[in-house]
Amino acid sequence: MKKILSVNAGSSSLKFQLFKMPNEKVIAKGLIERIGLSHSIISIAYHADGEEKNFKQTKDIANHEEAVDLLFKLFYILSIVNDSSEIKGVGHRVASGGELFPDSVVITEDVIDQIDSLGYLAPLHNPAQAKVIRSFKDVLPATLMVAVFDTSFHATLPSENYLYSIPYEYYEKYGVRKYGFHGTSHSYVAKRAAELLNRPIEDLKIVTCHLGNGASVAAVEGGRSVDTSMGFTPLAGLTMGTRSGDVDPSILPFLMEKLGLDEVDDMIAILNNKSGLLGLSGISSDMRDIETAAVSGNVRAKLALEIFVNRVQKYIGSYMAEMNGADAVVFTAGIGENSSSIRQAIVSGLSWFGMEIDEQRNDTRKEAIISKKGAKVAVLNVPTNEEIEIARQVERLGEGVKISN
Ligand code: ADP
Repeated sequence: MKKILSVNAGSSSLKFQLFKMPNEKVIAKGLIERIGLSHSIISIAYHADGEEKNFKQTKDIANHEEAVDLLFKLFYILSIVNDSSEIKGVGHRVASGGELFPDSVVITEDVIDQIDSLGYLAPLHNPAQAKVIRSFKDVLPATLMVAVFDTSFHATLPSENYLYSIPYEYYEKYGVRKYGFHGTSHSYVAKRAAELLNRPIEDLKIVTCHLGNGASVAAVEGGRSVDTSMGFTPLAGLTMGTRSGDVDPSILPFLMEKLGLDEVDDMIAILNNKSGLLGLSGISSDMRDIETAAVSGNVRAKLALEIFVNRVQKYIGSYMAEMNGADAVVFTAGIGENSSSIRQAIVSGLSWFGMEIDEQRNDTRKEAIISKKGAKVAVLNVPTNEEIEIARQVERLGEGVKISN
């Protein structure tokens, strides 16, 4: 049986899914949280001896290397994998591929070094992900490994959309441009939307809204990303859980003076970690808390919610203008998939564009067309599945590669 492992490593977490391919059945999935902190938590849901089972353990895990070793020990103990040779490929989600990686790539030593060297574009992610890849290589030295970049789907952006209006040589010399993120998710949901609409993606203009703790919107024309709201880093664009999204850069020196900050990094940390829904509401970065507080009359939570909705509407509207129309708008990720009221709020302000939510169809967390029949622009809810997209990339790249086990 062919198994492919999909790995998504964050700065203190490691998520994985093990698939049986090519039928894409999930054999096991899990999460290791609080790596590097005390009381790390390991949870695995898996299928063994014809039953669905759950494993949970709390123990200290000092670093990602230990996490990977433990993961494989548990694979054997829980009989999820009996021999490492059953795993025919591992796909690693990598935050930034810069301009070096316009597509997924088979991992070599050089590729790992390049991923590490792109750390300036994703400091919290790329270096940690390079380390995790090395740890997996230690455990499975002969297994095909593929890097799948959050940026690759946006490699098709035209220059008028990826360039900032600053001196051109900063792009040439330093690579300052829009890279975008969440590409695996935008790509997956755009393809699913075309399938659900029963139309070839080549004929469609789609606006995809990935609304999670991190959030971005993409304009997808003929299956290719032509614009997206995140930028040089994932700080740009929409109002997010703790990130500000777009601000006037002149605010930075002004606030640094007012706050007595000497380091610009401290100011950027405020925009990354203390802004967005959290900064506006003063309550929480979690949309569930914001919605609950807003319903019970908290004025700042209500304001945070309104600003969140407003920014998503602005991006949808501007991308419809850029593509000269749209056939579909797709919602995904934690907020997009789960909050029918936020989807309703966003779409109700876009009725002029020919969008109308069907309340009954919108009452779902599953894949569905949620707009009224006959509406000019279809609206869809499509739960994202970056893990399966990563496993598919491993299959695609593995076809021409000789695997030694
Ligand atoms: P991440 O970017 O960390 O992967 P997720 O895609 O998991 O984030 O999204 C997390 C966000 O989704 C949080 O703001 C959370 O509150 C929100 N969310 C999850 N379920 C719901 C829900 N039922 N209603 C509103 N928001 C929700």
